[in-house]
Amino acid sequence: FQMEPVNLNRLVEESLRIMANQIKMAGVELETEIPEKSLTILGNFNQLQQVLVNIIVNAIQAMENGGRLTVRLYQENSQGVIEISDTGPGIPEEVRKKIFDPFFTTKEKGTGLGLSVSYSIVKKHKGDILVDSRPGQGTTFKIVLPLWE
Ligand code: ADP
Ligand code: MG
Repeated sequence: FQMEPVNLNRLVEESLRIMANQIKMAGVELETEIPEKSLTILGNFNQLQQVLVNIIVNAIQAMENGGRLTVRLYQENSQGVIEISDTGPGIPEEVRKKIFDPFFTTKEKGTGLGLSVSYSIVKKHKGDILVDSRPGQGTTFKIVLPLWE
């Protein structure tokens, strides 16, 4: 597992570039907040990009009738935080307990692998993924990664 300096600002921008068409096609409005200051961690760009894409795809799929996707990057103490929020239906409490389990899915054609793979990748980076969801209002995934300094 190759570790290299990863600029989180670029990671977020590149991931959104990859997803731009899908976001537009889904009728989802995009709001981003990326700081002027560069936030850098030690890790693997491609793997982290896969994490962001997995979470953004889930967010788009959760907003069947359009909605708003908000992606924020900021520093919190010695950590870089990427927050991905949707205005979808939210995740019921009993489902939330299982979303990081391999093969757990509530989708007819889901693999149930996106979040379990994402969780392992973030853990390898000594980071964490937190989820905050309000049924009827939406969901926020928070990826926390230790900054490199
Ligand atoms: P898959 O997308 O193949 O179902 P994931 O591991 O990506 O597998 O997600 C697991 C489950 O978590 C989904 O089936 C869904 O029930 C729930 N989930 C993930 N993200 C969201 C979200 N943004 N809003 C609502 N439910 C979500
Ligand atoms: Mg998924």
